[in-house]
Amino acid sequence: QAKDMGRNAIRFFDPEMHAELETNYALESALWQALPKHELVLYFQEQVDEHGTPIGVESLIRWQHPEHGLVPPSRFIPLAERSELINKLGRWVLETACQQLAVWQRDERTAHLTVAVNVSAKQFHQPQFVEEVLQCLVRYHIAPGRLKLELTETLVLADIDDTFDKMKVLKKQGIIFSMDDFGTGYSSLAYLSRLPFDEVKIDQAFVHRAGQQDSVRDWVIVEAIIGLAHNLDMGVIAEGVETLEQQQLLASSQCFRYQGYLFSKPIPIEALESRWFGSS
Ligand code: C2E
Ligand code: MG
Ligand code: MG
Ligand code: MG
Repeated sequence: QAKDMGRNAIRFFDPEMHAELETNYALESALWQALPKHELVLYFQEQVDEHGTPIGVESLIRWQHPEHGLVPPSRFIPLAERSELINKLGRWVLETACQQLAVWQRDERTAHLTVAVNVSAKQFHQPQFVEEVLQCLVRYHIAPGRLKLELTETLVLADIDDTFDKMKVLKKQGIIFSMDDFGTGYSSLAYLSRLPFDEVKIDQAFVHRAGQQDSVRDWVIVEAIIGLAHNLDMGVIAEGVETLEQQQLLASSQCFRYQGYLFSKPIPIEALESRWFGSS
């Protein structure tokens, strides 16, 4: 077991690690019950244009645990990915996001918005994935260009051919693709030009370092990413924008789409709609 954790990581019994494994195990079994118990919630965070006007939202899953409170996805998505559970969760997210999208599509105030869904590698590469997305499009009458899937480098690299094939089919049906967390991986450049992404999402790690004393060389990378996106005819959006200074720096480098706490945090649907329409 220990040797499976990495070649240089053979470990002896460590009570702290044991406790963590136990918690993970407990959390994972509770997670299986989270769906039937309706403990999963989808939050939404605005994506805005240069005027701060919403152009879409990203859906971000939360787990409202009866004892632990709101559990962030970084804590439970990796646990779900260890089993089939991730497919169930992923299907629920897709379904819930499309349901919401259908409501917004029928309202002229929100009909232009896109809804982005994060897809896990395991979920994407399972054989039924395309079929499941297509079924959602039909079931909820989703118009072309409204549903956006966010894929990560890990997902793409897990199987580039499968990624390419699935993207091609889904794009024909009007799905938009965004390359999430761009710039953090090692071989992103090599495949970005080969895959039909519509948009590149600059990782927040770069955005957070913007304007800091020693970040000049990081910014060169950000500008290269933006230039690359433009030259490949892809859109570009920055995530994790927290300050006006970061937004202005991005704008001066020709990035005009943003997501981050400066504009809004991820919030439940009721909060989002009362933000947009006032409470009614
Ligand atoms: P991500 O897709 O890169 O999502 C962006 C993360 O940055 C979100 O964290 C969001 O809350 C956070 N964020 C947004 N703006 C700011 C900001 O201005 N400052 C800071 N510090 N953070 C900001 P969250 O919601 O905890 O999600 C973490 C990750 O979990 C996501 O990263 C995504 O990879 C994964 N995830 C979330 N929802 C789902 C889902 O439904 N399915 C799958 N497979 N993964 C999901
Ligand atoms: Mg994302
Ligand atoms: Mg991201
Ligand atoms: Mg991220």
